Amino acid sequence: MSRLIYLDNAATTRVKDDVLQQMLPYFTQSYGNPSSVYGFAQEARAAVEKARTRAAELIGATPHEIYFTSGGSEADNWALKSVVKTYAAKGKHIITSKIEHSAILKTCEKLHNEGVEITYLDVDENGKISLEELSNAIREDTILISIMTANNEVGTLQPIKEIGRIAHEKGVLFHTDAVQAYGHIPIDVNEFNIDLLSASGHKLHGPKGVGILYVRTGTQIGSFIDGGAQERGRRAGTINTPGIVGMGAAALYAKENLIKAKEQQESLRDYFIKKVLSDIPYTKLNGHVSDRLPGNLNFTFSFASGESLIILLDQAGICASSGSACASGSTSPSHVLTAMGLSEKQAGSSVRFSLSDETTKEEIDITVEELKRIVTKLRGMSLEYKNFLNDGLQSK
Ligand SMILES: *Cc1c(COP(=O)(O)O)cnc(C)c1O
Repeated sequence: MSRLIYLDNAATTRVKDDVLQQMLPYFTQSYGNPSSVYGFAQEARAAVEKARTRAAELIGATPHEIYFTSGGSEADNWALKSVVKTYAAKGKHIITSKIEHSAILKTCEKLHNEGVEITYLDVDENGKISLEELSNAIREDTILISIMTANNEVGTLQPIKEIGRIAHEKGVLFHTDAVQAYGHIPIDVNEFNIDLLSASGHKLHGPKGVGILYVRTGTQIGSFIDGGAQERGRRAGTINTPGIVGMGAAALYAKENLIKAKEQQESLRDYFIKKVLSDIPYTKLNGHVSDRLPGNLNFTFSFASGESLIILLDQAGICASSGSACASGSTSPSHVLTAMGLSEKQAGSSVRFSLSDETTKEEIDITVEELKRIVTKLRGMSLEYKNFLNDGLQSK
């Protein structure tokens, strides 16, 4: 089968052809080390600074507030570990949520083992935190609130502006993992009172292995990798010119196309949701129905295993995901879905589809047809489903 329907854009995206074209000269032509002084290297230096401006402009930041990293995971690690160190005199309490990406949760676990107190906020059945619970959790010694802009599994958007306002009022720093949101929905670090923000190139049609940490001017943050003086002495290592140029090009592409891409995906997403819920019984949408990422869908197909669904979809040339890419391969149920109140069984029957601006209506139609066939097949083999149907008949 040569057909490929790629509906796993939350795991990674295709690099845009134009983004790749902009990167290529920095491998074989302007390959100088941007930190070198001679003129030849200054071409690379200028390209890096142009990319920094583009990455900043997408979120209303200034270029000197952008630090390039190896991706979203590094930016998350850096933000949390560094704030704990530089704000130790104020306290050692962090507030986050139960549905963060593992780059935040594992970092929090580690910090907890080192004596940092962590409050993990609950989420409701739609995957939203409560602002009241957040306000009540803030203490004298709270140094940081870290809440993701958008969830990678269910797509739910958090009330980022309100969180920023509360953090600002209480004098607590606000970090947001915006890896899924950056370039997909409008973000303004000033309007939303964001002090630190993580983003990653490969989630918005840029290359893998490059990301940013935005740090608001005045926020104290130490170096993350020690060595050379790159990134104003805060992140050592020879600058990844092609990757950074790609990240900047992707940020510019996203800025110019954001509204169009968002509306196009929202309408395909809602069409997909309507078709699945009307055509396939005993199916439920996970995540907030409207406050969600433009391209995210997450369904529970009762009486069908998510893992089996993924395998059979793959055989039909369709890429989707059960749980997050990091969690698949492990059999433990999604911490996001269970935090939203799903049983382990329901969580294990869930599948995520994530669209891009390259997804077509025809691909959605094919996917829904294949889903109907596959879910029917899997339910036909489920003893639990047979018992469920028999119970239904008897009670009539
Ligand atoms: C993908 C992702 C990350 C990790 O980003 P990398 O660049 O792959 O390290 C972090 N947080 C969220 C929400 C993500 O979706």
